[in-house]
Amino acid sequence: MPFPYWGENHEGQDMLREAVEQLDGAAGLLGLDPNLAERLRYPKRALVVTVPVRMDDGRVVCHTGYRVHHNITLGPGKGGIRYAPTVSLEETTALAMWMTWKCALMNIPFGGAKGGVCCDTLKMSRREIQALTRRYTSEIFMLIGPEKDIPAPDMYTNEQTMSWIMDTYSMQVGYTVPGVVTGKPVVVGGSLGRREATGLGLCNLVFAALDRLEADPRGMTAVVQGFGNVGSVTALTLWQGKVKVIGVSDVYGGAYDPAGLPVGAMALHVAKGGKVSEFPGVTPVSNRELLEIPCDILAPCAAAGQITKENAPRIRCRILAEGANGPTTLEADGILAEKGVFIIPDILGNAGGVTASYFEWVQDTQKFFWDIGEINRQLERIMLQAFRQVMALVDERKVSHRMAALMIGISRVSDAMRFRGLYP
Ligand code: GLU
Repeated sequence: MPFPYWGENHEGQDMLREAVEQLDGAAGLLGLDPNLAERLRYPKRALVVTVPVRMDDGRVVCHTGYRVHHNITLGPGKGGIRYAPTVSLEETTALAMWMTWKCALMNIPFGGAKGGVCCDTLKMSRREIQALTRRYTSEIFMLIGPEKDIPAPDMYTNEQTMSWIMDTYSMQVGYTVPGVVTGKPVVVGGSLGRREATGLGLCNLVFAALDRLEADPRGMTAVVQGFGNVGSVTALTLWQGKVKVIGVSDVYGGAYDPAGLPVGAMALHVAKGGKVSEFPGVTPVSNRELLEIPCDILAPCAAAGQITKENAPRIRCRILAEGANGPTTLEADGILAEKGVFIIPDILGNAGGVTASYFEWVQDTQKFFWDIGEINRQLERIMLQAFRQVMALVDERKVSHRMAALMIGISRVSDAMRFRGLYP
């Protein structure tokens, strides 16, 4: 049987092809030196590891894990770690490339990295996930560190996972190193507001987009796909901002109510282990149907590849706020652009997470912690600054929002590479 990293995962291959096509498109528009563009098409380094875990039934299962550094010109590698059955070398590389553009677009001094383990945590016990995390951390130990590469949460990883990574790293070096990961609980050196930052940052942009469209948030309708760290905070923040949230979903399915969902109560229900589709009084819908509900704001905050050329013609929203990484395929992008949808592209839309990760790393490095007001103020400032820069380039060059965001990120990285020169 072929190993999982021998290109068996077609979704991952599609993602990587799209990421490289995006780069090629932006490089063409920027008139980028082909020698620089060529270097950016490849990851700097990629590590494939085997993560053997003794499962609760006594068997030892070998999972494949990855950590990819796409580019570290602007600073240490930065990017999440995901645990999912779709994880592959190609997917991890595409996500690392997007992290490079994202950090550069936000003007934060990090390069792009990503990691993951191919596994299904929904079928694993807490003890098994802890064993997997600690072994994976020791396998990628050589790549990570506060000045080298700083992991963070991504799909199916959270504050607990980050605590185990930080502990494993710290045990290896013999002293506590909070700055090796971000997205930790506050009590072990995490930052206030980090958990909420991705959803909050996305909503800062949605409100800025509504402002630009001269639309009042009150009376607007929203649909949010995903009720994890990003989706739940997005839904709650929109709801608190008087937007009528008419659809939400989690991995098990969706919930719809044209009169508006009680998002606060639903978040409590999910926190207690409930499913959104089982909340009393809602109409259950599938994750596919959810995306096609007519609404003003559609926020895909779950997996990649959700909006494709098949369903894009049926999507009816004014603003597409991408909380996930890569939720819209290239072909779907074109269809939505033709329809005049206002797209908040992923590398901008979900950048609140890595921006607050930057704050966490700065606080860990300085051993001086900020209050929540300071964090949310700085977050909003950086989100809106990037939004304005993207919109200015859209107006100047008449390119799509996504292309403008990519062009800003790619040009900053390539400018730095040009100054630093090719080694040796
Ligand atoms: N996983 C998140 C992302 O894709 C956060 C990364 C980070 O904070 O380093 O942006």
